[in-house]
Amino acid sequence: MSIETEKSRIYYTKPSITDLEIHYATDAAANGWGEHCYEYIDRFERLFREHLGVQHAIATSSGTGALHMGMAALGIGPDDEVILGDINWIASAAPIVHLGAKPILVDVLPDTWCLDPAAVEAAITPRTKAILAVHLYGNLCDMDTLSAIAQKHGLYLIEDAAEAIGSIWHGRRAGSMGVFGAFSFHGTKTITTGEGGVFVTDDDALYERVLTLSNHGRARGESRQFWPERVGFKYKMSNVQAAIGCAQMERIDELIAGKRAIFSMYQNALASVSDRIAMNPENVATQNGYWMPTVVFLSNLTFDRDALLLAFKEDRIDGRVFFWPISDLNIEGIQCRVHTPRAHTLYQRAVNLPSYHNITSDEIERVANLIREFA
Ligand SMILES: *Cc1c(COP(=O)(O)O)cnc(C)c1O
Repeated sequence: MSIETEKSRIYYTKPSITDLEIHYATDAAANGWGEHCYEYIDRFERLFREHLGVQHAIATSSGTGALHMGMAALGIGPDDEVILGDINWIASAAPIVHLGAKPILVDVLPDTWCLDPAAVEAAITPRTKAILAVHLYGNLCDMDTLSAIAQKHGLYLIEDAAEAIGSIWHGRRAGSMGVFGAFSFHGTKTITTGEGGVFVTDDDALYERVLTLSNHGRARGESRQFWPERVGFKYKMSNVQAAIGCAQMERIDELIAGKRAIFSMYQNALASVSDRIAMNPENVATQNGYWMPTVVFLSNLTFDRDALLLAFKEDRIDGRVFFWPISDLNIEGIQCRVHTPRAHTLYQRAVNLPSYHNITSDEIERVANLIREFA
């Protein structure tokens, strides 16, 4: 037997599940059927609306589904173009392709890693229908400038806030500012329902259209049973998932504060190399929900990302690569008309750090120690 005790594995994400989640989920499994089968869903939607400060919320089976239905309800379709950042998870682009429209990838800003408004404006064509503002890793897009561009050119501004619960732009929560917003409650996100998502909007007419779409095309108020008025979708959240979601929403302030505390511990632990790395920014008049603390090694340093990830692995630390530029994935239906040099330097110089709820300060120190060595 080895004398040295094995080091604990440091997970990059892991949900925070307490007795409250277990209690609600158990109750939903035992009692949430028949006439009670929507109770946790209704409650979850209400808690989410209240948290975000929006008029309408529709719980979905995924963030991707929320984006898909919202875009469908806006009439985005064949030959339309939707502009988004080249550094992104495929989930943001997939619904655009599903609708027959074209994702148009543009470069990102060096500090927020989110859409560069100047690149957005340069990419607009007569076919452009929408701008998809993805708040990457909790960092906020420049919503004022993007809103102004959208308004000037008659485009929809959509928010993919899947990673941005807890992020606030000039007093308004991420996801509440666009024509609609989408969130994800996948197991890796700040709050989770296992799988799940939500569509949110302040637009009454858009809400009614998505509600109909989300119910297999059956309109609210239709008195005939099984009478769809159009082909819709089936992206619903179940009552059991919503029960877990209700508990998470009752704990939302604690969960966001936890993510912010983790980020701040990393910031302190990395203060001695702060001239060599950049981390998720929190610009004036904003709050970052810090879903995923990320370190970008500055470009004047030689840095080998794979070597750092290997060092993490040897120390039982889960590291994660920054998203690849989508344009490099060579996927049919996704094109890039312009060079995206910032996206292309960023991904090679960045890693996401473990930030599971309940990570300890010793574990953060172990991660920070390796980063300091590499910096
Ligand atoms: C997680 C995520 C999604 C997709 O959410 P799912 O619930 O997995 O469908 C979409 N966009 C971004 C930016 C995400 O991080």
